[in-house]
Amino acid sequence: MPIADLFAEKKLVLSYELFPPKTSKGEAALHEQVSQLMHYSPDFVTCTYGAGGSSRHRTLAIIDQVKQRFQLPVASHLTCVGSTRDDLRDYLNRALRQGVDFIVALRGDPPQGAQEFLKMEGGLSFASELVALIHDEFPQFDVLVAGYPETHREATSATDDLQNLKRKVDAGADAVVTQLFYNNDDFFRFRDQCTALGINVPIVPGILPITSLQQIQRITSLCGARLPLELESRLSSNESSQWQFDVGVEWAIRQTQQLIDAEVPGLHFYVLNQSPATVKIIAETQLAELRQAM
Ligand code: FAD
Repeated sequence: MPIADLFAEKKLVLSYELFPPKTSKGEAALHEQVSQLMHYSPDFVTCTYGAGGSSRHRTLAIIDQVKQRFQLPVASHLTCVGSTRDDLRDYLNRALRQGVDFIVALRGDPPQGAQEFLKMEGGLSFASELVALIHDEFPQFDVLVAGYPETHREATSATDDLQNLKRKVDAGADAVVTQLFYNNDDFFRFRDQCTALGINVPIVPGILPITSLQQIQRITSLCGARLPLELESRLSSNESSQWQFDVGVEWAIRQTQQLIDAEVPGLHFYVLNQSPATVKIIAETQLAELRQAM
């Protein structure tokens, strides 16, 4: 089903994001976790595409397994890092043959050790160019793109970053999934600015439930999202992993319920290949009821 129809039909579209595990043990564990997450019948599942070539061949393998086993739409992330246009076309052809439904089209971060993103000779500089390539040459795919409620860290200004998002949507993106954030006001402001700019595709908040302070500090230092002081000080007041899970999930429950109340079109959970936090959040918000009512 096209993304536009999915969002038109469902009151709240639910999606999960996985990443390709590095080992066969990790892969077995992933299947167990995904089974738990299926309890709430997501509308689609996405899988990330490794920076600098690290795990890209496993992306298609993971989403193929998920699609075969659970018979639901799947999306492959795809970045411009280290690829020429022809490399990107090869990947998209493979994805097409494999029955991938959607592409999450991204520029990508600089590979490990590199300070900045460098365009490959014969490659692309920005996600908007990848969206245009898919739109022109692979119209079978619907396309999602990334949006940044707190502004992308390399952007020259918030206004320029919003203009970039508009460029991606004008090039053919069908929906926006946001970077993780912990203050809903940042999301609401971003959503209003998008509307004012004429970005009229669904804007789906990305939720990453915190389960460890150390892990989230590492992630936010890379992506530039802000941890509210109140949340950080609660997390740091006790080192036990159970405490950190409880505090992080309690925050995410409040955040998620407020987003549902504000009638967001969907919710995208960065599940990090684990089910307990996301399952608890769904069970303890109106999301559970909404999913069962469908
Ligand atoms: P772009 O939209 O191209 O923007 C990159 C920067 O360039 C921004 O600062 C933008 O404002 C600026 N810009 C864009 N166009 C222009 C222009 N014409 N002139 C000047 N400046 C411009 N990374 C991975 O490696 N693999 C993944 O699977 C992955 N999945 C992700 C999923 C989601 C939902 C999100 C939010 C991020 C994901 N990322 C992933 C991270 C992403 O690759 C990085 O955030 C990356 O730094 C930017 O990618 P982008 O697609 O937003 O880039």
